[in-house]
Amino acid sequence: MSRRKLAAGNWKMNGLRAHLDEARALAAAHPAPSVGVLLCPPATLLAPMAEALKGSAVALGGQDCHAAPKGAHTGDIAAAMLADAGASHVIVGHSERRADHGETDADVAAKVRAAWQVGLVAVVCLGETEAQRDAGETLGVIGAQLAGSLPDGATASNTVIAYEPVWAIGTGRTPDRDQIAEVHDFLRRAVPDAATMLLYGGSVNPANASDIFAIANVDGALVGGASLKADDFGQIIQALERA
Ligand code: PEP
Repeated sequence: MSRRKLAAGNWKMNGLRAHLDEARALAAAHPAPSVGVLLCPPATLLAPMAEALKGSAVALGGQDCHAAPKGAHTGDIAAAMLADAGASHVIVGHSERRADHGETDADVAAKVRAAWQVGLVAVVCLGETEAQRDAGETLGVIGAQLAGSLPDGATASNTVIAYEPVWAIGTGRTPDRDQIAEVHDFLRRAVPDAATMLLYGGSVNPANASDIFAIANVDGALVGGASLKADDFGQIIQALERA
């Protein structure tokens, strides 16, 4: 089965309006990519980035949403607000949110439902800590996170899964090929819709992207640091196009 591919950039808490130039440069350099390209800027940049990317092939996503459709939740953002600002996707369950905000699998599942409700594609993040890997618990942890974070009704159209080992995020360390392959093979068998895109995330850069994209069942990447520069992210997009 041939699955779609996706290069997704997560700008995290980085980016002022001046950085929209990087998004414009990316879109201009990749007017017709053969893979999906997604940028997830901080919420303050969603609307201006939507404007900057109008007519381009680059899609826009939020980095989180609240589980409720609206209400008294100071500082939070509803899925409908992301969609209204021009987003088609939203990252949910990133390990930084699980760690910084104590988000549980049940919280993540509720956010996924909220995203689906307004037609957003949920990019659901899963990943083990280094201690869990060292203890031989990786597949058990990933299986439990998948079961707990993914509500019934997940399809390749409404959900993307990102395997992001916590110890590989922002550290410059990546799992070896066999470690990535083991988790992606496991996820391929575990997802309810076999056509669901499975991204790898954690220190992907222009130098290692081709090797990672050559691994079976890796359909793309969720990229943090290397997505901030159009040139670096562009090289990752090209590596995915060649894979
Ligand atoms: C991420 O934030 O999802 C991520 C993978 O970050 P980095 O690429 O910087 O490791």
